[in-house]
Amino acid sequence: MKIQNDGNIDFALILAKKGVSKTKFRIHLLELFYNKRSLSVKEVMNKSSNLINKVTIYRALECFEEKGLIHKVPSINNIIRYSLCNSDECIGSLHKHNHGHFICNNCNQTFCLENYKSPDIKDIEGFYINSLNLILEGYCKDCHLN
Ligand SMILES: [Zn+2]
Ligand SMILES: [Zn+2]
Ligand SMILES: [Zn+2]
Repeated sequence: MKIQNDGNIDFALILAKKGVSKTKFRIHLLELFYNKRSLSVKEVMNKSSNLINKVTIYRALECFEEKGLIHKVPSINNIIRYSLCNSDECIGSLHKHNHGHFICNNCNQTFCLENYKSPDIKDIEGFYINSLNLILEGYCKDCHLN
């Protein structure tokens, strides 16, 4: 699934395929994710109609996460941010991510590094590993140039 919106994506169809009830707001929300790398609740609010309240946004985000549409990504201040999932990878709430993330120290945007897997560390004596995350920080292309 491509991140960039080429204008030909049927968002309602994607929601239907994932078993998400399609409201006008949810279609709008999915479109936002296709156009942006990652989004926080606040950013979703800023980009949505005033008629949409916070609860609706939280519920929609939770639903999207449960249906394998978006996943939580690391962020600068541990503010919850989400990014679009690769549709083939994640089925329902079973997110099968094994990619790294890049956090920009200037614009605070988080990028999924689809081609960079977390290192394969299985056993360290005396430690039991539950999760392993590859997080890189620095400046994204846009911020590096400015
Ligand atoms: Zn996922
Ligand atoms: Zn940046
Ligand atoms: Zn990611």
